[in-house]
Amino acid sequence: MIQQTPVMRICISCRKTYDRQNLIKITKDHKQGIIFQKGMGRSAYICKSKKCYSDSKIKKKLQKALKTFLDPEFIDIFEKVISSYNDNPIKGI
Ligand SMILES: [Zn+2]
Repeated sequence: MIQQTPVMRICISCRKTYDRQNLIKITKDHKQGIIFQKGMGRSAYICKSKKCYSDSKIKKKLQKALKTFLDPEFIDIFEKVISSYNDNPIKGI
């Protein structure tokens, strides 16, 4: 019998551990720059709780976690991505 162990990751905002599927992954990809849910490189995870993604310090936390500078436009994209994920919960990624 094969038991599937969920991949657990820590939300950079609340520091709680969640199943990977319930988190949004932000990756600093070597080639593509900052991308969501895919890519290879340094990654940060954030849970889908409004308290976390609408945190005023989230950009700073992300910059620290990804060790990079994020453009001001990043937060706009980030918010759009998050609201679209909340409309269509991701499965199996
Ligand atoms: Zn969180």
